[in-house]
Amino acid sequence: MAQPRILIVGGGAAGLTAASQLLRARTDLAITILEPAEDHYYQPGWTLVGAGVFSLEQTRRREADLIPAGVTWIREAAAGFDPDAATVTTSSGQRLTYDALVVATGLRLAWEAIEGLPAALGSGAVCSNYSRDHAAYTWEAIQAFRGGNALFTCPPMPIKCPGAPQKIAYLAHDVFQRDPALAAKSHVIYATATPGIFGVPTFAAPLREVVKRKGIDARYSHVLTAIRPESKEAVFRVQPASPNHGEGEEPRQEVIPYDLLHVTPPMAAPEVVATSPLAAASGFVEVDQYSLQHKRYANVFAIGDVAGMPNSKTAAAVRGQAPVLVANLLAQLQGRPLEARYDGYSCCPLITGYGKVIMAEFNYEQQPVPSFPLDPTQERWSMWVVKKDVLPWLYWNRMLRGAPHERRYMPGVQV
Ligand SMILES: Cc1cc2nc3c(=O)[nH]c(=O)nc-3n(C[C@H](O)[C@H](O)[C@H](O)COP(=O)(O)OP(=O)(O)OC[C@H]3O[C@@H](n4cnc5c(N)ncnc54)[C@H](O)[C@@H]3O)c2cc1C
Repeated sequence: MAQPRILIVGGGAAGLTAASQLLRARTDLAITILEPAEDHYYQPGWTLVGAGVFSLEQTRRREADLIPAGVTWIREAAAGFDPDAATVTTSSGQRLTYDALVVATGLRLAWEAIEGLPAALGSGAVCSNYSRDHAAYTWEAIQAFRGGNALFTCPPMPIKCPGAPQKIAYLAHDVFQRDPALAAKSHVIYATATPGIFGVPTFAAPLREVVKRKGIDARYSHVLTAIRPESKEAVFRVQPASPNHGEGEEPRQEVIPYDLLHVTPPMAAPEVVATSPLAAASGFVEVDQYSLQHKRYANVFAIGDVAGMPNSKTAAAVRGQAPVLVANLLAQLQGRPLEARYDGYSCCPLITGYGKVIMAEFNYEQQPVPSFPLDPTQERWSMWVVKKDVLPWLYWNRMLRGAPHERRYMPGVQV
């Protein structure tokens, strides 16, 4: 193959990282990124936008400044995938052919799945750090809170950054505690669709302690279905946690009044992916969780949130996936066996208050895989500094520029 054509659909955290690492590995590739957005955002910073630590502008860069030199950028969206013909159709109707395809579109925020939410978001104390347009409003709503129920919700999995829905609850709680009169009349509720506080047992244990210490009213198996902004009420379907729990128990409805409501919306694969031949039953791209290669189309790979793998969907996971994708995609082009394996690495800096973070790093086996020689279950100020200052720097200056994952250099760690 003279100059292999690599088409990357999506120029977000995953698409940019993949493009940069591919170019570092082999300079003779003809790489095209299909990406309609003019701006790129560091989404992990939005929790701190909602907490008044960052401005939204601090999380933004021009996409043009991030596309690696030598990569062709087509400023359009993918409108259709035809993997049998090895083509992707763009929003203007161009048909692009490829030797290898990397799907990196991220996921879709399904705001419309919650009745009343799209119209209510951004006013009347209804906010969300998951919305670029309304993350700053979270901070306004927290500051304007004068007591009553501060309600934070979390939808069913999978979502990106499963820790983010609770981080903002802890931060808001800290703000309310600064004023003893406000603290006395504040009731912080964390209502989550999940059966427990966090999916990884090692980190769930210290989080349960945090919830207890702060006196947060945690309600599990609560799926938000509607909000009624006129009466300031949130409607939940309370699902029995498992078939064995509360045998014979039917789902019931619970209505919780709110004075502040932070919503994390349900998430799904983008429509164009979910309706394509590339999709698994879940709608996400049907790839092998270790090789990142499509299970039916050998020249198709997926990376980031759109990949149908059981890892926790984070930008940190992309850092673990990218070297595997590069090694396996290049092997595929050369007809060699695919030997690199992704171990499911993900990291969720669990902010438990201003100046406090539990740095949760784990793999598919839900085993902790700490990058630092410290007990990872402890809340630490040093990890707050890592979250606030070090990780954004690493993202802009190393990850998006294709620098190898630091874990590569750690003894015994394979990415
Ligand atoms: C509030 C919040 C907090 C978070 N906190 C953390 C954290 O602490 N740590 C962490 O590691 N991660 C965190 N994340 C998750 C992290 O941001 C995502 O996992 C990461 O951005 C995934 O990268 P991606 O490239 O798959 O998706 P994205 O970065 O979302 O990029 C997808 C790109 O694809 C483009 N696209 C979409 N559709 C098409 C199409 N049809 N054609 C072409 N292009 C398309 C989009 O425009 C976008 O640029 C957080 C996210 C949020 C929202």
